[in-house]
Amino acid sequence: MKSVIVVGAGIWGSSLALRLAETGWQVTLVEQHKPGHVRQASAGETRLLRSSHGTDDWYAKLAWKAREGWQRLGQRVGEDLYLEAGLLWFAQDPEGWEKASAGTLDKLGIPYEILDPEEGARFFPDYRPDGLAFLLREPHAGVIRARRATQVTARLATNAGVTLVHGRAQPYGKAVKVGEDVLTADKVVWAGGAWMGEQFDLPLTVTKQDTLHWAVPSEWTVPGTPAWIDYDASAYGHGDVDGVGMKTTSDEEGAPFEPEHGRRTVDEASVKQASSYLERRFPALAGSKVLFSQVCQYALTPDAEWIIHEVEPGVWVFGGDSGHGFKHAPALAEYVASVVDGDQAPEQRFGLHERTPSRGLRTSGRVAG
Ligand SMILES: Cc1cc2nc3c(=O)[nH]c(=O)nc-3n(C[C@H](O)[C@H](O)[C@H](O)COP(=O)(O)OP(=O)(O)OC[C@H]3O[C@@H](n4cnc5c(N)ncnc54)[C@H](O)[C@@H]3O)c2cc1C
Repeated sequence: MKSVIVVGAGIWGSSLALRLAETGWQVTLVEQHKPGHVRQASAGETRLLRSSHGTDDWYAKLAWKAREGWQRLGQRVGEDLYLEAGLLWFAQDPEGWEKASAGTLDKLGIPYEILDPEEGARFFPDYRPDGLAFLLREPHAGVIRARRATQVTARLATNAGVTLVHGRAQPYGKAVKVGEDVLTADKVVWAGGAWMGEQFDLPLTVTKQDTLHWAVPSEWTVPGTPAWIDYDASAYGHGDVDGVGMKTTSDEEGAPFEPEHGRRTVDEASVKQASSYLERRFPALAGSKVLFSQVCQYALTPDAEWIIHEVEPGVWVFGGDSGHGFKHAPALAEYVASVVDGDQAPEQRFGLHERTPSRGLRTSGRVAG
């Protein structure tokens, strides 16, 4: 039986562990805290799933495939992990990123529609189309209950025979050291998210991201309210899920952050920025109060492309999610499992070559500073 150690029980590590266990591998999953712990990037209450990725069709196809993966996972456990609320892109530039995305969706046969800005009023209890050139609507995009999905995935992995080891792992040649124990396996996959820069020489920048949910009247609830993204304003959100409030927050890159000990309180500037967007786009919500907030972190590569790379024979790093990795997890796990098994080489884009700084794969064209 082939054996593998996966380090990190975020959504990437847990999904990969589950996939490998269900395809005949003996799997050990090492986690320093608990699957779904609040420092994880995967522990956000919610994450968006959308297929639009500008001109890039690789990620668009993966997201579309992952949607089915989330639906299957939800059916397996009898929970709505994925809420197919639809998503509206608020396009400011008639020739911008959203237009490029529509071209790619067209090519791939992924459903979408283009609407006049005023038609947004059909989807929100109150809405102002200021500054918008058009709307791109993805009817099958939506919202994932992220923290819950991460815990469920890790539980399914242990049910499928994965051994969960609690402790902080250190690279030890081709092995993994946890405390005094040295673990060995045919393959090792490091999926440690924002912590990985401490152990491997990777082109990673970790930034603090404040997430805000606002107290709103009950008519602003998912699935009645779709998710939305204003790419050029670096703002995104969705209606209230599970009573934590309507998400409206910025996708702009925050200040450098240390994931283990960094202070997890949101900045007043983030609150002001999100509040002013809320007021501008959804005037009835002017003056809403923050109901719930979270501090999370992005593990950014220079070009927002992920890292899937064999650093030495049998040892892989799987990280640099760059703030857009959650939605893909079920389909990405299938892809990475086949790469680790040697069935296919990873895409060159995921290597450790010199990377040209660029943005756009996230829901934001903007970087801080
Ligand atoms: C504010 C915010 C909003 C986002 N929005 C979206 C979105 O809308 N859509 C989307 O698709 N994506 C989104 N993302 C990105 C998404 O959350 C991440 O891509 C995804 O969660 C990354 O998962 P991961 O498993 O790689 O990392 P993590 O979830 O951080 O997990 C890494 C795990 O590894 C463990 N670990 C690390 N090192 C060790 C070690 N040495 N030993 C043991 N354990 C270790 C850590 O404790 C942690 O549990 C967002 C991210 C943030 C921060």
